[in-house]
Amino acid sequence: MKINVAKSAGFCFGVKRAVRIALETAGSGGKIYMLGDIVHNEDVVSQIEGKGIQKIKKTGAGTGKRILLIRAHGERLNTVKKARRLGYTIVDATCPMVKEIHTIAREMEKKGYTVIIIGDAYHDEVRGIKGQLKTKSVVIGPRGRIPVHALSRIKKACVVVQSTQNREKVSAILRAIKKQVKNLRFFNTICRPTKAKQEEIKTMPVKNDVMIIIGSKASANTRRLFEISKTLNKRSYWIQSKSELKPDYFRRAKSAGITAGASTPERTTREVIEHIKKLTRKKGGPKKGDGSIFSQKK
Ligand code: SF4
Repeated sequence: MKINVAKSAGFCFGVKRAVRIALETAGSGGKIYMLGDIVHNEDVVSQIEGKGIQKIKKTGAGTGKRILLIRAHGERLNTVKKARRLGYTIVDATCPMVKEIHTIAREMEKKGYTVIIIGDAYHDEVRGIKGQLKTKSVVIGPRGRIPVHALSRIKKACVVVQSTQNREKVSAILRAIKKQVKNLRFFNTICRPTKAKQEEIKTMPVKNDVMIIIGSKASANTRRLFEISKTLNKRSYWIQSKSELKPDYFRRAKSAGITAGASTPERTTREVIEHIKKLTRKKGGPKKGDGSIFSQKK
C-alpha cells in the first residue's frame, strides 16, 4: 500500500516558534507559568511541562522572578496587563499571524467599526481577539446561527476570521453578514499554513483510498481537516497516535493519505507511518522498501 503524506502535515511555523520560545525560556531561571496549553497537543504540553513550565488557570500574587508565557493562540489584553501588575515578566509566544488579527481588530475598532469575528466562541484564539477590544464584538461560529437582528443594527463593521477556519464556511457566513451590514470591511485572516493544509485536504481524500488525520481531539484545526476529509472520503479517520490505528482501516486499500494538524509533532506522524507499514505488511501488504513515500516538508 502506498502512503502519501501531505507536504503541509504537522507543525506550522507559529507552533514551532511557540515551542522554541517555551524551551528557550525554560532554561532562563525563575518560575515559569503558562495560562492553559501552549498549543493544543498533549505530547507537546507534557514535553514543555517536563522542562519545568507550570500550567496555571489564572495568575496570582507571588514573589521572586516569575515569567508568564503567552501561548501561540494569544491572550486577552486585560490578562496580560494584570499579570504585569502582579509582577510577572511576559514572554510572548503569540503567533505573529494571530498578532496581526489583534492589530486589525484594534485599529478597526478605533475607526468606529464593530468587530465581527468568524470563529469558535470558546476557542482561546477567539477569546484573545475579543479581549483586545474595548467595545462589544460579535462572534459567529461556523455551525452557529447568524444573529440577524443584532447585525441589522450595526452601521459599519469589519470581519476578521479565526486563523484556522474553513474557507468555504467563512465565505457562506460572510455572504449572510453582507445581507445585513451594508458598510462592511472583510479581512481574510485565515493563516497561510491553514490555507495550505486546506488546499491539500481538498484533493488527498479523493486521490487516496483511506485518509488518516493525526492530531489532538482538542485541536480545532485538526477537527476541520477531518471534517473536510470526511465529506470527500468516508474512509477518513482522526487519530491522536499510532495506538488508535486499526488494521481494518486499510482493508483492500491501495493508498493511504496522511495529514496532521498544526500542533502535531513530526515524531507522532512518523510513528503513525511506521505503524501503518507494519499493519499493512501483516495483512499481506507490500514489504519494506516498497517505494512508499514520506514527503513531509518542514
Ligand atoms: S495555525 Fe496559523 S495562526 Fe495558528 S499558530 Fe499556526 S501559523 Fe499561527
